[in-house]
Amino acid sequence: MKDLATALDKLRQEHLFRIRNISSAAQQIEPIINGQKVLSFCSNDYLGLANHPKITAALIDGAKKYGVGTGASHLITGHHKSHHALEEELAEFIGCERTLLFSSGYMANLGVVSALANRDTTVFEDRLNHASLVDASILARAQLKRYKHLDTNELDKKLIDEKNAAKFILSDGVFSMDGTITPVTGLQALANKHDTKLIIDDAHGIGVLGKEGKGCTENQLATETILIGTLGKAFGTFGAFVAADKDTIEWCIQRARTYIYTTALPPSLADATRASLRLVRKESWRRERLQSLIMRFRTHADQVGLPITNSTTPIQPIIIGSSATALKISADLLSKGIIVSAIRPPTVAQNSARLRISFSATHTKDHVDQLIELLAEIIKSNNMSLQQDS
Ligand SMILES: *Cc1c(COP(=O)(O)O)cnc(C)c1O
Repeated sequence: MKDLATALDKLRQEHLFRIRNISSAAQQIEPIINGQKVLSFCSNDYLGLANHPKITAALIDGAKKYGVGTGASHLITGHHKSHHALEEELAEFIGCERTLLFSSGYMANLGVVSALANRDTTVFEDRLNHASLVDASILARAQLKRYKHLDTNELDKKLIDEKNAAKFILSDGVFSMDGTITPVTGLQALANKHDTKLIIDDAHGIGVLGKEGKGCTENQLATETILIGTLGKAFGTFGAFVAADKDTIEWCIQRARTYIYTTALPPSLADATRASLRLVRKESWRRERLQSLIMRFRTHADQVGLPITNSTTPIQPIIIGSSATALKISADLLSKGIIVSAIRPPTVAQNSARLRISFSATHTKDHVDQLIELLAEIIKSNNMSLQQDS
């Protein structure tokens, strides 16, 4: 594989080579990474539920009752009453007619879009959408058109100019590398105006945003909007769901290939997620705590001149630009016991490599302060400009 070896070398030279760190304890604020205990600002476990004893107990109880594997897909014999109960509880939580469980958010996006769109559909996507939404349009063989990040005016113009009758708008709810929030009511108004379907993938908003943790669409979800949420982030478990009207869900059961042609999740995992849903709903202090940590970070980081963005979510990027510099800062932080990942192209646009800081309800004020202090020190000693973007 000489061609691959050359391509791999090129990635190394361009500081774009990825490595996997080895984690050897539970997911928590201070995990063990490559044998070292570190303070982490990397995970999507926003509410600190990934290692919650009640959720672990539900998983164990479920495994004792039902074993591990389902042995089949949902349409054969894999659809268990635990999956069914979770779907009903999620529908009640979101306030929609039905939900459908998928094995992951990635598979949910591929499945739903390719079940509902085809080569005669034009799909409009925010330029910063997650890779899985872009892949979903490609798999559906739809015509993909992208609009400027969050720009509903540009989207409106593109929709006016569109010749295809079948149209779709796809957007992240909270953008995974920027922490920005999609303009939900604006998108819903455009979907209505142009008779267009709208899918919002709120992987980073579910459980986190809104008083009750229903995500970026809380209290404003139109019945026609299709909402997708992952269970692997704030819920702390695994899997994903699609929330929609009953006909959309029924069509996905009939046609979503990533739903039909795959083994159903373990029932114990559905039980664990049911326990998680109860905590997400009941323990609103987790969201309040998270918000106060975000506020603290933004105020103090701004005071010491760190180039923060206008994100108000737990995703707080520090845009660096060069991949090499982002990697160097990340390595320097790690040498002092703090892990923050450097996100590089192609995950983000060229020259927009960044540190992606993410907060969890289980961080403390002291953790936030430690991060700011060290980051300011490292950026200063690297002689980086601390001027905020205008
Ligand atoms: C993480 C993420 C996904 C994928 O969800 P998984 O359940 O991890 O597969 C999909 N969309 C967005 C916006 C994400 O950030």
